[in-house]
Amino acid sequence: MNLRPEEISSIIRQQIEKYKAEVEVSDVGTVIQVGDGIARVYGLEKCMASELLEFPGGTMGMALNLEEDNIGCVLLGPYTHIKEGDTVKRTGRIISVPVGDALIGRVVNPLGQPIDGLGPINTDKFRPVERIAPGVIERKSVHQPLQTGLKAIDSMIPIGRGQRELILGDRQTGKTAVAVDAIINQKGKDVICIYVAVGQKNSTVANVVQKLKDTGAMDYSIIVSATASDPAPLLFIAPFAGASMGEEFMFQGKHVLIVYDDLSKQASAYRELSLLLRRPPGREAYPGDVFNLHSRLLERACKVSDALGAGSMTALPIIETQAGDVSAYIPTNVISITDGQIYLEPDLFYAGVRPAVNVGISVSRVGGAAQIKAMKQVGGTLRLDLAQYRELAAFAQFGSDLDKATQARLTRGERMVELLKQGQYVPMDVEDQVISLFAGTRGFLDDLPVDQVLPFEDGLLKFIKNNKADVRQELSEKKEITKDLEEKLRAAIKEYKESFVK
Ligand code: ATP
Ligand code: MG
Repeated sequence: MNLRPEEISSIIRQQIEKYKAEVEVSDVGTVIQVGDGIARVYGLEKCMASELLEFPGGTMGMALNLEEDNIGCVLLGPYTHIKEGDTVKRTGRIISVPVGDALIGRVVNPLGQPIDGLGPINTDKFRPVERIAPGVIERKSVHQPLQTGLKAIDSMIPIGRGQRELILGDRQTGKTAVAVDAIINQKGKDVICIYVAVGQKNSTVANVVQKLKDTGAMDYSIIVSATASDPAPLLFIAPFAGASMGEEFMFQGKHVLIVYDDLSKQASAYRELSLLLRRPPGREAYPGDVFNLHSRLLERACKVSDALGAGSMTALPIIETQAGDVSAYIPTNVISITDGQIYLEPDLFYAGVRPAVNVGISVSRVGGAAQIKAMKQVGGTLRLDLAQYRELAAFAQFGSDLDKATQARLTRGERMVELLKQGQYVPMDVEDQVISLFAGTRGFLDDLPVDQVLPFEDGLLKFIKNNKADVRQELSEKKEITKDLEEKLRAAIKEYKESFVK
């Protein structure tokens, strides 16, 4: 066949010319209406869903409603200078954020711009904020523990790497505290942590940043902050931006822990946007796709298959309930998406049981697969024991003549509740947790006054660390309490108890 270069080049030339013409027509539009952080733009026929649009003065917008003759978009910055008739340019980019190691240790806004005054972020890698979650073939079942360092959670509601575990509770019940402790506990465990603050007070975020700095956790953490004073679109994309930053590490085969604090505020921001965009309101005035909003976000947290590097992203979404109503719209939605929930109860919190985990309605659907054997051995029956204790305790208020077995059960329950209390910012190693729960479940605390349980625990753990390092070492190597180790532990606790009682 004869190829004629002139002909080919003329065709290419023609195509290039045509291409240009098309681009010009659809790349610039006009503002026809603006207000409340929303703009309607005419003339951007080729605009993509969630495409970034450029307004005068450098303000960016995100296209959300693609309608027949106009586009509804939300404005991501100051918009008072934008007027009807202004031109709007397409960028051709879906909204994306910088990702990579350069972000670690930084505080950024949902667009990935630094807000900590530490200078620019040097990365040339970007990821779109929305991405379809990995499919079934790309995943693997969750099997490694992600220790939160909190006895009440690691023993009874174990979380695995790649799991989504919801933390829910009324306001001021220690939800943020649980998540922050979990982040602090990842020190030296090769987990990158991302804390996404959505609609929090600036002071709350500043406190979290300070605490993470003080404990050295900032060295492996990223903070994405959209505070209550930021416009609703930023609150809406913040969790997605965090998820994209996490995915980058997950697909490198690393482990990530991401906290969304909290998704109720993201849902409200999304409701605000949807109502302003005149999307039809549904239950509680939320738009019909608010379930999809949360599921497409949370599905992105997973354990990736070996072929893709076996990384993981564990998500701890937080939801604030109103007056303990877990059956409201948003809480039930997120409960049904996640692999379990930790319910923090105000009554327990005020009674001083902190973390205020209500063991009865908290579950982890991954369960024992994410626990080391030793923890299963000491924590196995804990949940049941505590449930029975609560039942008896309510009953025992009515009379004092209780039989011996009931009395014993009450004694044990009271001490276990005490033992599961834990202060803020002092997460515990899994070995310490096992030793302390071992002492409790094997009855070594039964004859101590309740107020001596925590001092005893404290002393015991120090004693074992200093004087019985070999026992602790054996436990951390075998990850199981063998017959032999059980004897050694009993002996060690007995030895310490003699000095404690004296
Ligand atoms: P909000 O609804 O405002 O977000 P929250 O549910 O996130 O609140 P936190 O801010 O974590 O709750 O905690 C509320 C208060 O309880 C804080 O002052 C915190 O220091 C205290 N607190 C939380 N956990 C504990 C704990 N384990 N021991 C002692 N104090 C705690
Ligand atoms: Mg909070």
